[in-house]
Amino acid sequence: MSNAKPWIANYPPETAASLEYPRVPLTHFLEQSAATYPDHYAIYFMGKRMTYRELLHFSYQFANGLIKRGVKKGDRVAIMLPNIPQAVISYYGALFAGATVVMTNPLYTEREIIHQLNDSGTETIITLDLLYKRVTSVRSSTPLKRLIITSIGDYLPFIKKMLYPLVQKKDGHNPQVTYGSDVEPFLSVVKESAIIPVKAEIDPEHDIALLQYTGGTTGVAKGVMLTHANLIANAVQCRAVMYKLKMGSERILGVLPLFHVYGMTTVMNKGISIAGEIILVPKFDVKLILDVINKTKPTLFPGAPTMYIGLINHPDLQKYDLSSIEACVSGSAPLPVEVQNKFEELTGGKLVEGYGLTEASPVTHSNPIWGKRISGSIGLPWPDTDSRIMDLSTGEEVPVGEIGELAVKGPQVMVGYWNRPEDTAAVLKDGWLLTGDMGYMDEHGYFYIVDRKKDMIIAGGFNIYPREVEEVLFEHPAVQEAAVIGVPDPYRGETVKAFVVFKQNMQADEQELEKHCRERLAAYKIPRQYEFRTELPKTMVGKVLRRQLQEEDKKRREEQ
Ligand code: AMP
Repeated sequence: MSNAKPWIANYPPETAASLEYPRVPLTHFLEQSAATYPDHYAIYFMGKRMTYRELLHFSYQFANGLIKRGVKKGDRVAIMLPNIPQAVISYYGALFAGATVVMTNPLYTEREIIHQLNDSGTETIITLDLLYKRVTSVRSSTPLKRLIITSIGDYLPFIKKMLYPLVQKKDGHNPQVTYGSDVEPFLSVVKESAIIPVKAEIDPEHDIALLQYTGGTTGVAKGVMLTHANLIANAVQCRAVMYKLKMGSERILGVLPLFHVYGMTTVMNKGISIAGEIILVPKFDVKLILDVINKTKPTLFPGAPTMYIGLINHPDLQKYDLSSIEACVSGSAPLPVEVQNKFEELTGGKLVEGYGLTEASPVTHSNPIWGKRISGSIGLPWPDTDSRIMDLSTGEEVPVGEIGELAVKGPQVMVGYWNRPEDTAAVLKDGWLLTGDMGYMDEHGYFYIVDRKKDMIIAGGFNIYPREVEEVLFEHPAVQEAAVIGVPDPYRGETVKAFVVFKQNMQADEQELEKHCRERLAAYKIPRQYEFRTELPKTMVGKVLRRQLQEEDKKRREEQ
């Protein structure tokens, strides 16, 4: 049984019917908000603000600048920037020019940049002065022709202090460099161009707005092709689910990186579509975020569990006022129940768990923010999204309550992977996207994720889902974070190893954790090995890199 649209009971009648998706390019949202609210603020960044009129004009100018430099419809334009206003201008500018945006993580190594630019055939990149050396060093190994560099300008002293250590750690050198003549400053691309609306002929259903690379944490990165219609759909669905939002008056905390589709949709695409003010924060730093919240009073805060965990555990929390926050959807990893409760207590707002993946623009499920929600569940499929659980071996739908692979279908689902028809065929079947996540549906139509298909540990023939063990560890009062992997075991094939980070000034030993787990888990699920760490490796959206832990562990075993 696939879901029988139980979300209808949780939303007002206007969102209960099928939603209307305008057949327009994604840039339409910006034009519409700028036409209706030209003097409202679109962006806040480190004490400075930019209105909708200014954002639209800069984006037109940037689009004209790109076109003058030879960028044509369908060309790929990479944006390798943290959350700064130039990232938003570059995004809309490239889209107005009819290009396909390729978002590139500023923390990528040379190898990753080379793969992404070659695979996508990207000739134009917009990046930061701090990253110039890394990008220019890969130039001869990629199709890059145009390098547009931006500086954080006025904000430099402050940002430098935050971003330089990151870059230095990666590149091992001071990134302050003089540029070659092959570089164009971002400001001159903008300033020398006219503020004339650019109207590339866009077919929203077929033209690719975004090539978003994914699989970096699990395998070779593939470009997910998302059309204008896909991205419009997810923003419209997001608005329907957050039906209490008011046009022209929300403030959205933009901590999630815009170069990941989760931040792009929930912060930028949705935020611009409701003419909200986007509060850009270039780095996840708890103190900085608390200061920004105090100063800007955001109403919405889409995030990942690690962000909420970081905030509620900050020692000076009582000095800050978080009461402006009204609604938060947490995605990208499981949201622990205690975190949800504590965060709601502190803010007086709602924090609910949602779910999605790059291949679905990304959101497909969430708990209703103002309706019935179930802790530990990813909630209900979003409007116009179908969802079901499939048997791994037969490909048939399984009965309620049984675990299988989650599949989704809806207007936000990608058209495929760029130049990879076989990979596409493996996950897209009759419009259904196989998510690679194992889960089940309850009798009320709420969905639950038990784990990634490939993270499942098989010990002595039993299936163990790391997430279940992690949740139990997390319930221990001293534990701040935990990650569990499978390691080789001569008798069981695999056994469970736990990596644990303790809260500040708290600790527990292996015996205590084992006792804690034994009381709550079947014997075969109890971790046999522990490693205590001060932090866990994570992606920029706070997903624990289990694969990295596995690799580190394997290396250590080989060295012994
Ligand atoms: P990405 O494509 O980087 O957005 O990653 C998508 C993956 O994140 C999904 O396939 C899930 O494995 C994981 N994920 C997202 N949201 C959740 C959630 N609420 N609970 C558990 N895993 C999640």
